Amino acid sequence: MVVIFFASLIRWSKHHQQTHRVNQFFYSLFFACFAVLTAAPAKAARLESWRFNSSQNQLEITTDGGVQPKAQLVADPTRLVIDLPGIVLGRPVINESMSGTVRSMRIGQFDRDTTRIVIELAPGYTLEPSQIKFRGISDRRWLIKLPTPQLATSSIPSISAVPRLSAPSRASESELAAIESVELNGSSNQLMIQANKPIRYTSRWDTSLAAYRIEISPAQLGNSVKGPELGAGSPISRVKLRQENSQTVAILVQPATGVQLGQMNQPNQRLVTLQIQRARLVSAAPAIAPRVMSVFNPSVANIPMPRSPNGRIVVIIDPGHGGPDPGAVGINGLQEKVIVLDIGNQVAALLQRQGVQALLTRADDRDLDLEPRVQMAEQSNATVFVSIHANAISLSRPDISGIETYYHESGLGLAQIIHQNVLQFTGASDRGVRKARFYVLRKTSMPSVLVEVGFVTGRDDASRLSNPAYRTQMADAIARGILQYLQRAARL
Ligand SMILES: [Zn+2]
Repeated sequence: MVVIFFASLIRWSKHHQQTHRVNQFFYSLFFACFAVLTAAPAKAARLESWRFNSSQNQLEITTDGGVQPKAQLVADPTRLVIDLPGIVLGRPVINESMSGTVRSMRIGQFDRDTTRIVIELAPGYTLEPSQIKFRGISDRRWLIKLPTPQLATSSIPSISAVPRLSAPSRASESELAAIESVELNGSSNQLMIQANKPIRYTSRWDTSLAAYRIEISPAQLGNSVKGPELGAGSPISRVKLRQENSQTVAILVQPATGVQLGQMNQPNQRLVTLQIQRARLVSAAPAIAPRVMSVFNPSVANIPMPRSPNGRIVVIIDPGHGGPDPGAVGINGLQEKVIVLDIGNQVAALLQRQGVQALLTRADDRDLDLEPRVQMAEQSNATVFVSIHANAISLSRPDISGIETYYHESGLGLAQIIHQNVLQFTGASDRGVRKARFYVLRKTSMPSVLVEVGFVTGRDDASRLSNPAYRTQMADAIARGILQYLQRAARL
């Protein structure tokens, strides 16, 4: 009950409060109550110690909170991958080389709250997965005993889940495609990404890196793959290849000045191409320098997105909360500030690409009061203001999901058109366009709206908002709505 009480208090105070300090207080209070009532692991546990005993082929790990390890055996070279969900390593990757049939042990942070241990065998060796023994001395202390590795006679079994443990949730690494080359084809003006197996990709502007990000998953970087050789006159100033995690390769492309990145194509299942074209330079004088992102030529649309009407148009994108203020916190600790920053960054990048000057009130995880958000809109004489938030209600109401779009006075048209696009492109449930006296809506003089992109406490919304692809879809829909509105407004 206490949870519900404070949750609704937050819900009420979230956007209405003029002073953030009050919010902060309620947040702390809420988290304190929440932690006590549910004993949820608000703070992730740490990996305290680990020791691999080579003579016994045994790994011993200790954590300061309970853990249920998950394991999988991966081929080429054979390695046992042990994931510790809910465990934070809190230090750089550890890499221990060993002599013998077990060649190395690596420990790293696989994702935000999973530590991954990889025990790699010497080339040509494998082991029998059914004989790997996990012994929990307690839920914080585990012994993992490997059988003696054997020389592989034939091909190594692709993957085997280790018995007694929950099945690995991710695709087998052995099935991963390898990225074999990333080259610039001068005659066709394409960046060509070649893999040895069928691949799938997603792409978007990464505003924090001012680069176009192509993510290929599941895939690994091939051993000998380098980026393209980029000369002085190259249309691309930089290409960076990164193994983002064990399943994902990221290719970051920075175009040279005056160059546009065009359409992406997949001529065959193993080849992905990115069109590059020289373009007329666009002059874009940023109104507020530090937060303006790189500006790209508006004349090419990578995706069929409405174009910006002519004239100086400034759109303020305002991802809610940030820094010490997480906003709403929902299922699995899903944080509003993280979701809305990702969506906001993408909306801004999409608008930029369509020739709209998009300014972000915050482009990173920083503390920002409501007042400077409004000030930025006023000082830049913005055409429209779009605040992005995520909704929350009590954690005991996972049944509640859906989109709400708020406006105050002149923002109704903008709210309706964004709302409509979001429903259409995301398939999320409709909780209506609503009028509200939120500070950022009341204090801005241009049409302004506040989009609630879903409930972090909602079963449906939380799982979808946790998915980067869904957030991209959401950003796409919001950008479409804004562009349609600007087009209509220009015709009036
Ligand atoms: Zn919010």
